[in-house]
Amino acid sequence: MGLHTFRAHELRPRLQAGELGAEELTRAVLDHLGATQPAINAFISIDHEGALAQARAVDQRRARGEPLGALAGIPVALKDLICVRGGRTTCGSRILEDFVAPYDATVVEKLRAADAVLIGKTNMDEFAMGSSTENSHFGPTRNPRAPDRVPGGSSGGSAAAVAADQTILALGSDTGGSVRQPAGYCGVVGLKPTYGRVSRYGLVAYASSLDQIGPLTKDVRDAALLLGVVAGHDPRDATSVDQPVPDYEAVLSQGVKRLKVGLAREHFGPGLDGQIRRAVEAAAGRLEKEGAELVEVSLPVAGHADYCIGAYYLIAMTEASANLARYDGVRYGFRAEGTRGLQELYHQTRSQGFGEEVKRRIMLGTYALSAGYYDAYYLKAQQVRTLIRRDFARAFAACDLLLSPVAPTTAFRLGEQLEDPLQMYLNDIYTVSVNLAGLPGISVPAGCAADGLPIGAQLLAAPLQEENLLRAARVLEQTTPPT
Ligand code: GLN
Repeated sequence: MGLHTFRAHELRPRLQAGELGAEELTRAVLDHLGATQPAINAFISIDHEGALAQARAVDQRRARGEPLGALAGIPVALKDLICVRGGRTTCGSRILEDFVAPYDATVVEKLRAADAVLIGKTNMDEFAMGSSTENSHFGPTRNPRAPDRVPGGSSGGSAAAVAADQTILALGSDTGGSVRQPAGYCGVVGLKPTYGRVSRYGLVAYASSLDQIGPLTKDVRDAALLLGVVAGHDPRDATSVDQPVPDYEAVLSQGVKRLKVGLAREHFGPGLDGQIRRAVEAAAGRLEKEGAELVEVSLPVAGHADYCIGAYYLIAMTEASANLARYDGVRYGFRAEGTRGLQELYHQTRSQGFGEEVKRRIMLGTYALSAGYYDAYYLKAQQVRTLIRRDFARAFAACDLLLSPVAPTTAFRLGEQLEDPLQMYLNDIYTVSVNLAGLPGISVPAGCAADGLPIGAQLLAAPLQEENLLRAARVLEQTTPPT
């Protein structure tokens, strides 16, 4: 098997022992990436030369006997809204097509400090707005498991890259499900950490109160490893949590004995594909067999589409309308040609620079914030957000983890939902409440549908309980029958 097919925790001892070179590994990954990129389009940019230079530097330092970091020589791909100094950060948008970031995001600093090899930037829905990676200025990404299907989104490039072995590890961002849902659609692991666990400094903002960076990996151990590297307090992000970072890998073998796993009846209502329901129920059965106790809970607001989808999209769009005001043709990226006067410059730059979905959201968000509608929409959504938090607080008084589907269906066909934004938004029914409440969640493969498409199971926990998530996810991974 080619080197690109291995996991980080399998490669690490071989690299450490010197029996495998970082350059050799990076070359193998880049070769496979180069050969498969045209069919999948998971990457917006590939830093071939830079990656090889980083890998050679790791090999030289190892040869000199210098101490190296936790990811020394391991290739990592980054969703293209994470700033890497000196490289393009496009956010999948025409408006930032040529934007070169002047600084490294905190997660990038941490990856560099861990001696990871940064191989490139992955495709995404424009400004992370979407569930299919079809809203990208750089064309859609295809699902490596079925080329006529979407990889999910908005971190579809990162998920597809991991699923297709085009990278060993990847980071995405999750505002309403964008790490977990594409992981589910592509059959990989996706972890959305507690809000504040990973610094957002250098993550281009979509909806600041919801955004969180998270790992997409081939297995649960790699998710634990990568989270351990990127998590931690950062004074440059005012919402960063000042709590020590546990050794996530150390807890993986602890199993689920005596953990209480809650199933919310609202997560298994109409609209859920029958095969997914059975796969998640089977996952619950396996957790029980391994010693977990199953309990029934209720999430009347957090599990109800009318409330959670409505509150999420209102809050996300209002925050986006403010965050995206900065793209005005003056300070960043794209500027429309031949305009007369400042108003026209703004107008033309934004009309030409943003895609359909981004414009729709800026308009809806601005409308919801306007004086006459603020109370009816934005304020109401914030009140629902409070009720959603309370739902989860009540549920986590009765259990340690919640188990649910990731999405109501498996990966849909390219183009199938593009004309119907509301249908696209409904994909996010099981994922958005988690962001509104700031909780951690993980998507882990739980089998396949009859047509071979991956099915994901989602585990949720109370704030900063990532260790429990990882323990249970590891059990599911080890007990899921091979397909
Ligand atoms: N699909 C959701 C949206 O479009 C979530 C996106 C995300 O998590 N970035 O807002």
